[in-house]
Amino acid sequence: MIIDLRSDTVTRPTDGMKEAMFAAPVGDDVFGEDPTVNALEEKAAKLFDMEASLFCPSGTMTNQIAIRLHTRIQSEVICHKYSHVYLYEGGGIMSNSLASVKLLEGDLGKISAEQVKAAINPDDVHAPETTLVSLENTMNKGGGSIYTLEEVKPIRQICDENGLKLHLDGARLFNALVESGESTASWGAQFDTISICLSKGLGCPVGSLLLGTKADIKRARKVRKVWGGGMRQAGFLAAAGIYALDNHVERLADDHARARVLGEMLLKLPFVSEVFPVVTNIVIARLDGILPDEFLRKLAEKDIKAVKFGSDLVRFVTHLDFEDEQLEEFCEQVLNL
Ligand SMILES: *Cc1c(COP(=O)(O)O)cnc(C)c1O
Repeated sequence: MIIDLRSDTVTRPTDGMKEAMFAAPVGDDVFGEDPTVNALEEKAAKLFDMEASLFCPSGTMTNQIAIRLHTRIQSEVICHKYSHVYLYEGGGIMSNSLASVKLLEGDLGKISAEQVKAAINPDDVHAPETTLVSLENTMNKGGGSIYTLEEVKPIRQICDENGLKLHLDGARLFNALVESGESTASWGAQFDTISICLSKGLGCPVGSLLLGTKADIKRARKVRKVWGGGMRQAGFLAAAGIYALDNHVERLADDHARARVLGEMLLKLPFVSEVFPVVTNIVIARLDGILPDEFLRKLAEKDIKAVKFGSDLVRFVTHLDFEDEQLEEFCEQVLNL
C-alpha cells in the first residue's frame, strides 16, 4: 500500500464524482454556453453571497488574475513572506502584473491589521503605490493555520480606510471553515476576491474558482482568455466541482482528525523536535539530527511519501484517499523507522 501524503492534490475522483462528470450536460464555455460550468459558477457565488464567479484551470491562475485585477503597473501587493502567491507562483506578481511585493513576517504565516497599516506606502514619488493586500487561509506554510473572521475584519477596515483591495487565497478555505464553523457568506463579505481550489481537499481532478463582483469577474474572464485559460466543454470538470461542494466539504473534518493523529505519531520519533500545531489537514514536522532528504528516504522505504518543506522541515497533507486503513498502516510503519 503506497501512502501518498505529499499533497491533497493526489486524490483520484470518487465513483460518485466520476458518474456526475460523465452525466454532465456541456457546451462551449468560451461562448458562455456550458450549462454545468454556469451552474457551478452560480452555485459558488451564491454560497459565498458574492456577485459572480469564474471557473479556472488552477489556483495559480485564479490568484494571479485577482492580482492583475487589483494592481496597476508599479503598484505594490502586501502579503506574508510565506504566501503561496509570492513563493510558489513563479514570480507571477512581477511577470503577470508588473507589480512589486512587500513581504511581512508573522507567526504561522499570518499577518495583523497593525502590520498591514504600517506597510502601506506613503504617497511619495519614490514609493510604489500600495493597492492590494493578499491573505491566505488556511496558511500552507503555517502548517494549515487558520485566520478567524475576527482577525480579518480589522484588516478589511484598514483596506477600506486606505482604498486598498483585499484578496483571499482560499485554496483550502473550506478546511478553515469546517474547523471554525464560520459561514461562507461571512467570509464572502470581507473580500473583494476569493480564490477557492476544488482540486485540493475537495478532491476534484482539476479546477479553481475566483469569486468577486460582476464587474471584476467580467474583467477576469478576459484575462483568463488571454492567459490561455478559456476552456471549451469544461462542464465535465465543473460537474466534479458541483459534486465536491455537495459531498466533500463536511468530510474535511475527517482529514483534520487523521492529521492530528499523524502529528502525534511523528512527535514520538526521536528525530522530530517539533510539530506545528495541527489545526486542519497539514502537518509540518521539524527535524533534528536528520536531514529532510534522509528522513523522506526512510519513509519511502516504507512506501510513505511526504515532501521537504524547508532546510529542516517536512510536510504531510491528509486527504480523501487517506482513510483509517492508511492511517493505521502509517502509525505502524512510522514506529519502525
Ligand atoms: C495549491 C495552492 C494554490 C494553487 O495551486 P494550483 O496548483 O495552481 O491550483 C494556491 N494557494 C495555495 C495556498 C495552495 O496550496
